[in-house]
Amino acid sequence: MDKNQIREYLEYYRDLGFDVIYRRSTRADYAAAVSPMVELPGLAPDNDSLAAIRNDIGDCRRCRLCEERKNIVFGSGNEEARLVFVGEGPGADEDEEGLPFVGRAGQLLTQMIDNTASKEGIPIKRKDVYICNVVKCRPPGNRTPQPDEMEICGQFLFRQLTVIRPKAICALGATAMKALLNTRDGITKLRGQWHKWNGIPVMITYHPSYLLRQYNQQAKREAWEDLKTLLHFVYD
Ligand code: SF4
Repeated sequence: MDKNQIREYLEYYRDLGFDVIYRRSTRADYAAAVSPMVELPGLAPDNDSLAAIRNDIGDCRRCRLCEERKNIVFGSGNEEARLVFVGEGPGADEDEEGLPFVGRAGQLLTQMIDNTASKEGIPIKRKDVYICNVVKCRPPGNRTPQPDEMEICGQFLFRQLTVIRPKAICALGATAMKALLNTRDGITKLRGQWHKWNGIPVMITYHPSYLLRQYNQQAKREAWEDLKTLLHFVYD
């Protein structure tokens, strides 16, 4: 790789929000001393596609989340969607089926999308949007993904968003919010407002699993309001 290619490579990842890039050393002693070493893939090709991204993921072992996963959960839905929902990571049901948002939280998300669209007179259903997560493998015990796992796997999310280039993105919960906005602010402060990721408007709202866990009617009402704003923005 010459200097220009290296500069282009670094700029590409900086634009995507990566602060730190690990370089694979050719010296065995250095590699042994610095652990874990992560190999980031090359630049996304000009003619990138969801199929190419899935192919690059392969039987991924780039982070420790590979150790207990059953299936990599890439994403599902309309590959030309105008709206993409981004969650945190697969849970047990998703890991089992290899599909995002198929458990209880997923059913709530489906209801939220379908019912809000129907009430607002917007002719879409869940199948018309695209849904994926920040990390593609289930964190053990459903723990929150760690920053290095988000950074490594986030490269695939960013490529997915770049390929689909939706009219808007909905970040579900704090992990997706942090991955897209690189912020330390809390979700209660940033939800319900428009932000941007690489020029694409981003709406932040609560993760459906939070809405399931909390006996908190206020959060539910707010999430429905966020969704209404989002659907009108994208489909009016
Ligand atoms: S979470 Fe992402 S980076 Fe980590 S092993 Fe799974 S696919 Fe690879």
